[in-house]
Amino acid sequence: MAENEKALWDRRGFLRTAAASTAAGALPTVAQSTDDEHDHQDLPSDLALRVKALESLLVEKGLVDPAALDVLVDTYENKIGPRNGARVIARAWADPAYKARLLADASLAIAEVGFTSGQGEHMLVVENGPKVHNLVVCTLCSCYPWPVLGLPPVWYKSAPYRSRAVIDPRGVLAEFGTHIDEDVEVHVWDSTAELRYIVLPERPAGTDHLSEEQLAALVTRDAMIGVAKVSPPGEAS
Ligand code: FE
Repeated sequence: MAENEKALWDRRGFLRTAAASTAAGALPTVAQSTDDEHDHQDLPSDLALRVKALESLLVEKGLVDPAALDVLVDTYENKIGPRNGARVIARAWADPAYKARLLADASLAIAEVGFTSGQGEHMLVVENGPKVHNLVVCTLCSCYPWPVLGLPPVWYKSAPYRSRAVIDPRGVLAEFGTHIDEDVEVHVWDSTAELRYIVLPERPAGTDHLSEEQLAALVTRDAMIGVAKVSPPGEAS
């Protein structure tokens, strides 16, 4: 836990520095960002614009089918990526010792299941409970735990989500159809390129008889970001 506490402390220090820079009129620039795959500004980066231009050219010349590209993106955004995370969550629900390891050192415990790659070197799992609900955002851009969640959804990268998740988390959650009781605390976690968060949702009632694989099938991407809860079997999520 000491490493996690240090990471959280570093994050707070980073936020203070960023706030001080902003207050002083010296906004952090792209050049100041570290190893993030994207820059911290609203306009698309040069790289994103170049990729878009290349894609348009390939489509125009008939070398690439845009529908095939959409399928590819959808696969990584919705199918493969989040299924990895769902396996991790299901294992944590089924195996208390694994859950303890996951909460103590998420990156190590996730690597144990076989998921390692860039954009996920330092991950932290935050656990939901009867009195705590966690919500993940990247207020600066779109930092996201790729090894367990794949590519971030478009709304996660949008300016309204990034700002409103912090200002009015309960309002944002309500728009996702997730209503949090007043006596439940909502914790908002701000991801960075250095530290990315995953929510460990509450295991739904009536799932004692389910296998790990069946449990994993219940876990959604949105539940691991914290904008949804995991529904019991048979209920729409
Ligand atoms: Fe980011």
